[in-house]
Amino acid sequence: MINKILDFRSDTVTKPTAGMLDAMMSAKVGDDVFGEDETVHTLETKLANIFNMEAGLFCPSGTMTNQIGIKCFTQPMDEVICDQTAHVYRYEIGGIAFHSAASVRLLYGERGILTPELIEPEINEDNIHYPNSSLVVLENTVNKGGGSCYTLSQIAPIHHLCNIKGLKLHLDGARIFNALVATGDKAHDYGQYFDGISVCLSKGLGAPVGSVLLGDRATIHKARKIRKAFGGGMRQAGFLAAAGIYALDNHVERLKEDHDHAKTLAATLSAVSYVKSVMPVETNIVIFEVEKGSADKIVNQFKEKGLLCNTTSSSTVRLVTHLDLSAEMIDRAIEIILHL
Ligand SMILES: *Cc1c(COP(=O)(O)O)cnc(C)c1O
Repeated sequence: MINKILDFRSDTVTKPTAGMLDAMMSAKVGDDVFGEDETVHTLETKLANIFNMEAGLFCPSGTMTNQIGIKCFTQPMDEVICDQTAHVYRYEIGGIAFHSAASVRLLYGERGILTPELIEPEINEDNIHYPNSSLVVLENTVNKGGGSCYTLSQIAPIHHLCNIKGLKLHLDGARIFNALVATGDKAHDYGQYFDGISVCLSKGLGAPVGSVLLGDRATIHKARKIRKAFGGGMRQAGFLAAAGIYALDNHVERLKEDHDHAKTLAATLSAVSYVKSVMPVETNIVIFEVEKGSADKIVNQFKEKGLLCNTTSSSTVRLVTHLDLSAEMIDRAIEIILHL
């Protein structure tokens, strides 16, 4: 048998499992723009209940749920506060400017993790010259931080500050279930702290498509209109929502395996001479540093041996573990790392 390619480029590369495909094929569907797709309703309600929020909105991507959330919580000429590594800032094509006509204030957290002490001085006073600071966006886990995570005890004081200062708080939870599994925090305790939560189903959870924006009823009502304006109103989307429901029922607890795999890989990488340092691993992302300018070369050498991964700068490489990388495949990856 030919060895399968070891694809560590992202946790988005997973294919639906047989069980997930069965669930999709037997989904009850209707026209969701008419509000008639019961599987989409089930997914939205299920996630809202899990996070103790009032309502949810199924969207095609995490970029869309983030951008709709930001649009719900800002007015043109407002300012959004986030870490400089934030996906909403770096990887959503300037969408904050394009969709919401808002500016962005960038903070420098430790591995992307913000604190009230970092945020407070950056909230603008009411002054004729200044944009109105109206929203803080947190990312959990932090992708560019190497999968670093917030605990709820770190989030509560940020919420408190936002509350006093009249700012909204949005969570880019593309990998929120990785954070929950790693910290032991309860999803149900999240709702009280956030005005909006974006949850991805197509990252570690292994669904082919989709993210859900959670919020209160009024926010989600507004978000539904914005989704339509973005061209994101889908018809028989229940086939896709069914994959999300299946993922929530079957693929959450197993994220711990991905985290264990990531830790094993990090330990191996720490021991080889071409690696200068490895970021501490908290979840399913491993970022390691090599000699400046040689990240591309290392990635190409890995590729020749059947292991795919990406650079994150000229001196850093990222490996992401996921559902389609079995223990046996991790063992093969370790052999490749040791004998590159
Ligand atoms: C992947 C990701 C998103 C959403 O990406 P889509 O590809 O649009 O679904 C948002 N935030 C973070 C941190 C991500 O890693």
